[in-house]
Amino acid sequence: MSLADILSRIEAARARSGAGPVELIAVSKMQPLARIRAVLDQGHRLFGENRVQEAAGRWPALRADYPGITLHLIGPLQTNKVRQALELFDVIQTLDRDRLARKLADAAQARGACPPLFVQVNTGAEPQKAGILPESADAFIAAVRRDYQLPVVGLMCIPPVDQDPVPHFRLLRQIARRNGLAGLSMGMSADFETAIAEGATHVRIGSALFGDREAAG
Ligand SMILES: *Cc1c(COP(=O)(O)O)cnc(C)c1O
Repeated sequence: MSLADILSRIEAARARSGAGPVELIAVSKMQPLARIRAVLDQGHRLFGENRVQEAAGRWPALRADYPGITLHLIGPLQTNKVRQALELFDVIQTLDRDRLARKLADAAQARGACPPLFVQVNTGAEPQKAGILPESADAFIAAVRRDYQLPVVGLMCIPPVDQDPVPHFRLLRQIARRNGLAGLSMGMSADFETAIAEGATHVRIGSALFGDREAAG
């Protein structure tokens, strides 16, 4: 689908739900550079990457060529990559454990700034998936704010692939509401319109925009 088609589908879904603005995060992981440049050439500036290493390989050069890029980290962050992540990314969506919060706070203090953060919630309680468990989310968000004064702005989830995403989107929204968080990063290629109907403020779209990825990622 073209960028224009996706943007108009997002806008239509947003208008139907009467929601506020919805941001399109173009998920460029495992995509050929030419496809990323094509989307940049059409004026889009908001992107998401899964891996620190992959982002480090191409985004510094792309930033030099295209002013105004905003890059979100949407994949798991290892504590030994925190420093590098803070150099590369404008927003980190995958805060999900105390040790990572502590490392982020230390590294941000050394830099003098911390990017906005989303807390990733494992809404399906899947053992292989990153994210804080839903029942631990309130306490975790409170601790991150109190103990580290980190700028948490929203929540992110990746529902189980084989389930109706709606209950997961609703759960994420409930947790965000009761914790006073405005940002809701939910919805991907297959379900972004559903996510917008459930209150998404950020949708993360990869394959529908760029085509199939080059390898499993
Ligand atoms: C890959 C990925 C996406 C995009 O998935 P598509 O189905 O290609 O749109 C969104 N969010 C996360 C966290 C991802 O890893």
